[in-house]
Amino acid sequence: MLHKLDEIIQAQFPVHVMPKYGSFEPLQTLGHRYLLGKDGLKLEIRRPWLHAVVALHDAPFAQLPFGDCPNDSVDLLCGPIPGEFSRRFFKQARESAPNECAAWLVWDANHATWEYVELKATSATPDYVDVQRPALREGAWLVMDLHSHGHARAFFSAKDDKDDRSEVKLAGVFGNVAEPQPTVALRACLMGAFVDLGPLEVR
Ligand SMILES: [Zn+2]
Repeated sequence: MLHKLDEIIQAQFPVHVMPKYGSFEPLQTLGHRYLLGKDGLKLEIRRPWLHAVVALHDAPFAQLPFGDCPNDSVDLLCGPIPGEFSRRFFKQARESAPNECAAWLVWDANHATWEYVELKATSATPDYVDVQRPALREGAWLVMDLHSHGHARAFFSAKDDKDDRSEVKLAGVFGNVAEPQPTVALRACLMGAFVDLGPLEVR
């Protein structure tokens, strides 16, 4: 339940979401409000003698009157990813080298079961893999999208960033796959935000 004081704060400092298709109606009454748009957060102020809109990033004295957001976090509600899948993908990546390859780790939310889906490459080279995206049945979710970089090291390329930018998933790259221990990079892709999950040791 909303605390009474928070109710007062939120009534005094309303947040207006900018229409994408409609037109913006400037504040007609005296007061102020926050504007949330594609370009961030702005403050709109109206006085009898003034109408102003000002961006709030880099405005150290313009403190938001709200509480702090929760700390950033990435919690896997599906539980840990089965370790055998990283060994399996390491094997798939070695067999495909020097070409790249890809696989999906899929979790069935209805039955809490995992599935390893080897992706069919429509074309693959040492620095490129194009795959058919498998259709998932109802209740099945892509949790981790794995691809290899063959003999090159693991990192997220500009192409990976572009491919991952609108998705909600974990992404993993295996590189140096002929070595006894591959290099591995992991991240969470959260609708355009990337959270580095650090290196992973394959055991
Ligand atoms: Zn890549």
